[in-house]
Amino acid sequence: MKTLLFGTAGVPRCSPGTSTISGLETLKKIKLDCLEVEFVQRVSLGEETARKVRKKAEELGLPLSVHAPYYINLNSHDPEKLIASRKRLIDAAKAAFLLGATEVVFHPGFYQGDSPDRTFGKIKDELAMILEEISSQGIFLSLRPETTGKHNQFGSLEETLRLVREVPRLKPCLDFAHLHARRGYHGKEDFLKDLERVGEVLGGGSLKDLHVHVSGINYSKSGEVNHLNFSDSDFPFDKLLEAFFSLEVSGRVICESPNLERDARLLKKRWREIVKINPQD
Ligand SMILES: [Zn+2]
Repeated sequence: MKTLLFGTAGVPRCSPGTSTISGLETLKKIKLDCLEVEFVQRVSLGEETARKVRKKAEELGLPLSVHAPYYINLNSHDPEKLIASRKRLIDAAKAAFLLGATEVVFHPGFYQGDSPDRTFGKIKDELAMILEEISSQGIFLSLRPETTGKHNQFGSLEETLRLVREVPRLKPCLDFAHLHARRGYHGKEDFLKDLERVGEVLGGGSLKDLHVHVSGINYSKSGEVNHLNFSDSDFPFDKLLEAFFSLEVSGRVICESPNLERDARLLKKRWREIVKINPQD
């Protein structure tokens, strides 16, 4: 049985309220399956609120993941920024734990003029330390470094897979829109190639536990510029879904298009069509 869950990065636009609880109720109503809680600038979540959100998510059967704040650079040369980056990731892990979320997505950092190898080593050491810190607090969950969209940013597919392979308790977050901005997907074969590479480096089990970000995307020579709705973009999302189907992947697909739930629902609708015309189970 192939299982893909579809959800949004943050509270759906059509939600009557801006709270996460309102977002969860809306997601249920519009028949989406999961939510990524976004901590854009900093982690701001009281214990009481976290408890309520967790209860609501469990009640509605909507699994949660967390996106750590964007301002994380584990290769920063500025000691203060480095300390703040560690704290943001640790705070996101603590919040995820309180929310009952099992996945924490984050952007690892920038090269800052360092070689890719040196950057890799630094980020790897930082993550090992951060994981030790959070597990010493009794928090065990998956940290998921994301494939990033800019060429000056650490996080190509190969870098991400190598990091995940070398640091225990990391799993990847595959942002296919970012990878598209880096080097362009033209058809199903391109997606199959990357997904097969994930299986090759991390083992076949990794394809049964994927965490994916998608959206349309605007890009230039230096990579990602900004996210777009699918209708304004050349990102071939239907080919990605066909590749998921061929490889029988499972996991969560989080939509980051500006219209959030509209493209998430489009993905789910298209996915159901693909499953329907290819009955296998
Ligand atoms: Zn992200």
